[in-house]
Amino acid sequence: MRFIETWTPATLLETRDLAPGIREFLIKPDQFDGAAYALGSHINVTVTINGQPETRSYSLVGEVSSRGLRIAVRRAEDSRGGSRYMWQLAPGARLDITQPSSLLAVDWTRENYCLIAGGIGITPILGAAQALARRGADVTLHYAVRSRGEAAYLDELAAMLGQRLVVHAGDEGRRLDLDALFASLPRGALTLFCGPMRMLDAARHAWIGAGHPLTDLRYETFGSSGSLPTEMFRVRLKDSGVEIEIPRERSMLDVLNAAGHEVMFDCKRGECGLCAIDVVEVEGEIDHRDVFFSDHQKESNQKICACVSRARGIITVDTLLRVDAV
Ligand SMILES: Cc1cc2nc3c(=O)[nH]c(=O)nc-3n(C[C@H](O)[C@H](O)[C@H](O)COP(=O)(O)OP(=O)(O)OC[C@H]3O[C@@H](n4cnc5c(N)ncnc54)[C@H](O)[C@@H]3O)c2cc1C
Repeated sequence: MRFIETWTPATLLETRDLAPGIREFLIKPDQFDGAAYALGSHINVTVTINGQPETRSYSLVGEVSSRGLRIAVRRAEDSRGGSRYMWQLAPGARLDITQPSSLLAVDWTRENYCLIAGGIGITPILGAAQALARRGADVTLHYAVRSRGEAAYLDELAAMLGQRLVVHAGDEGRRLDLDALFASLPRGALTLFCGPMRMLDAARHAWIGAGHPLTDLRYETFGSSGSLPTEMFRVRLKDSGVEIEIPRERSMLDVLNAAGHEVMFDCKRGECGLCAIDVVEVEGEIDHRDVFFSDHQKESNQKICACVSRARGIITVDTLLRVDAV
């Protein structure tokens, strides 16, 4: 069960390699009117994985351009194959995409803005940098990368931001000190963040530690690979005697729904919490990969976001589906 999305056919016009493992795609929808989209917007793209249609989301890079929609895809090697599918596309390929939509709420009335990007997380942040620089806002972008050679859009950002671009390259020993950064920000500063889940966790702790309101830290997540390896685990359904295997390459949500359990969902990114189901027993360990539950809720293991979270061993859940009530 899911809310309705509007899909539209589109053509891949160009590709461009930005850094090892990061490729840019210029996509033009058939009915493209060049209308501006909200900051932090992404599109969903239909990809084919093992012969089956699947959806992957990609942030739009920069503000709208009359040429089409720009995305950049990092090739994830240890994955189900969505990014590999994107990488084998050649100009002229036909695609199905959704209309741009944004989950990142930005207000333009602040005096200070702090942008933080980790690796490929630069994609939604670049448009924010562009918009804020154009408005003459007080904005600094902290860009954490393994090395400058692996960083996408460095030249574009340097031209746009000058000294207000701070690159934290691991191989140069320039670690991003989130505690010090947030302590130095004035009250009322708005931070926009996009990066890996561990970095987001660290940012949330540092943000709260510095005494800023959590609502002033806005973030986008691309999904998490979790803290345990992605492996097969088993799910027992309470009071039914049914045990289902969740293979490595499928989510618990998809497997439960395919088996007729009608688990509600929306974002499929562990952000909205709609697919959260009750956990009755854990024989092993849950790997919470969502950003919906608090640390405390995750520790209590009472619920699991079926779309992204996984486990080691066997967990017993209650999907609240009652056969006699259907
Ligand atoms: C709003 C949004 C914007 C995004 N923007 C971008 C972007 O600009 N650029 C970009 O490169 N990506 C972006 N992504 C991520 C993108 O949608 C894909 O997740 C990414 O391309 C990897 O897809 P994949 O199929 O190759 O890997 P996936 O299989 O989705 O793997 C991603 C990670 O999940 C782990 N994983 C593998 N199998 C499973 C499983 N069964 N269950 C749970 N986890 C598993 C893998 O270890 C891997 O690290 C965005 C995601 C969202 C939600």
